[in-house]
Amino acid sequence: MYIGIDVGGTNLKAGLVDEAGAILAVERTPLGTFRGPEPFAKTLAELAKAVLRKGGAEPGDIAYVGMGIPGAVEGENIVYTCNIPMRDVPLGELFRHHLDLPVLLGNDADCAAVGEWSRGAGRGTRNFAVITLGTGVGGGFILNGRLYAGGGMVGEVGHMVIQRGGMPCNCGRRGCWEAYASATALARQTQEAMAAHPESLLHTVARELGGVEGRTAFLAAERGDAAALEVCRNYVEYLAVGVTNLVNILQPEVLAVGGGVAGAPDALLMRPLRHMVEAECYPRHANKLPRILRAELGNDAGIIGAALLGNVI
Ligand SMILES: [Zn+2]
Repeated sequence: MYIGIDVGGTNLKAGLVDEAGAILAVERTPLGTFRGPEPFAKTLAELAKAVLRKGGAEPGDIAYVGMGIPGAVEGENIVYTCNIPMRDVPLGELFRHHLDLPVLLGNDADCAAVGEWSRGAGRGTRNFAVITLGTGVGGGFILNGRLYAGGGMVGEVGHMVIQRGGMPCNCGRRGCWEAYASATALARQTQEAMAAHPESLLHTVARELGGVEGRTAFLAAERGDAAALEVCRNYVEYLAVGVTNLVNILQPEVLAVGGGVAGAPDALLMRPLRHMVEAECYPRHANKLPRILRAELGNDAGIIGAALLGNVI
């Protein structure tokens, strides 16, 4: 058995996971105020002990503790984390002061890819890619049955430029894919359409939701609103540009789409996306079309992938 820990921006979640990737027990705790690497490592160890107790297991049953970290990692050390102030932290060593088990660290997007590959949309494939549409656009790849990981410095698919001189991006460049295809970008595109179309149902839906979100345009489009349909169509075109680029570079058997936006109705998101990618991707010349699928595991992908890291690195 393994323990997989998903270190999120607000919550820490630990799962007791068996060899096949099934979650046997889960425990979670809020990240809370960050008080430094040592208390952080202690919190992780206590969470791991709690999930052991809940699953009726002992430390001796556990091969290692895998952790998905939002940032860059090297071995069992954190190089830096994006939203938690840590740099060059020997997390494995600090963790073992409280619970003496081997530790494997992975980037969180990589862990999500491993989870989906092991138990979700990518199972049974040798080459698999997953993209996550959220605040940004993340990505992870399994190539030839191995995680293609650079400790958090590869797979930054969201920062490939699809429009030279285009929208500014948080990374400092302009025209990055995530400035067009993230949930954040979709909300911005929706607000622009609302300003241009005061008559649109987008305004009604935004009032109902109490603000503009990624799903606002999809909800109004489902009700047949013309401006919303236009927003969705444009959004999927931006999405398809990047997905096609990835397919051309990697030719995965399956490319899975996850994150909040992936919950949109098939007719408005996955179906048009598939059509566009199939019409434009290079492997179509050899009739080797990838399967473009919705990710299946939701938030569990991170826990499962962290737990199974040892199989793929
Ligand atoms: Zn960027």
